[in-house]
Amino acid sequence: MPENTDSSSGRILSALEEIRKLKPNYSDLLDFYEKIFIAQEDSANQTRIEPLKISADTLALKVKEQFPLIDISQFAIDSKAAAALFKNLCEIVQQTSGAMSKSAGAIGKAVEAGKLDLETLFAAFLKSDEEYFQKVSDELKIDNKTLGFIVYSSVKPSLARCAEQLSTHFDKNLPWEKGYCPICGSPPAISIFEENGKRFFSCSFCWHKWATKRIFCPFCDNTDHNTLHYFEIESEEEHRLDVCDKCGKYIKTVDTRKAGREIYPPLEYISTPHLDIKAAETGFKSGIEVGF
Ligand SMILES: [Zn+2]
Ligand SMILES: [Zn+2]
Repeated sequence: MPENTDSSSGRILSALEEIRKLKPNYSDLLDFYEKIFIAQEDSANQTRIEPLKISADTLALKVKEQFPLIDISQFAIDSKAAAALFKNLCEIVQQTSGAMSKSAGAIGKAVEAGKLDLETLFAAFLKSDEEYFQKVSDELKIDNKTLGFIVYSSVKPSLARCAEQLSTHFDKNLPWEKGYCPICGSPPAISIFEENGKRFFSCSFCWHKWATKRIFCPFCDNTDHNTLHYFEIESEEEHRLDVCDKCGKYIKTVDTRKAGREIYPPLEYISTPHLDIKAAETGFKSGIEVGF
């Protein structure tokens, strides 16, 4: 069942408040994402998705072979809810002083004028049809990345709802040995330590959270403790940077036991750019690209 708006939005707002106190320098970034996340939560409450059907044979095979349950192109989108959110996000992004503002205004106008069909755009997104995105961006003279950001942010509640429904097919006690999301096959955006040192990953695409091994690189399956280590972050007990010498990639980690506050994985991801800077300084590369 979807969580009610008050409690899930309330939890995100509480997490934002705590991070604002810890990171006053990020207030503009946090103000921006507060609007995005709350608009997404409101939209999630309007999002209706028919559960995707997976035959028992396919399901058994996928679970046995540890293949992801679906391909990204198979996600279902509630076009009506996503379109309403899309228009809302165009306004939010337009109101910022950032580089995306102008493009967001032009995208919003194109939708109003009927020059941009959102169902086609959402379908092209799920098919990773980069040519279509480039064509639209050229025609509207807008920034392709801004378009991608608004599209992904608009369909994210649908992706999360699909993932939530599909996750009921798994036995949560069975370990998932792979580095990719059991639902959609995408790499994790963030690593999370919880009670008893249990480690989880959160998907960079559908944000499904799954249990994983403590010593493990999701990008190259490395489990050798000699080549896997981490950097602690000065004056930040709750964060660390997990790095792999074998593939040269890193993942940002939050330890909920040390954080002592609400954890909303997309917020942890966007509110830790200093961890990405530290990783770059030490010569490690990100293993993912988050679209929001
Ligand atoms: Zn996923
Ligand atoms: Zn690795």
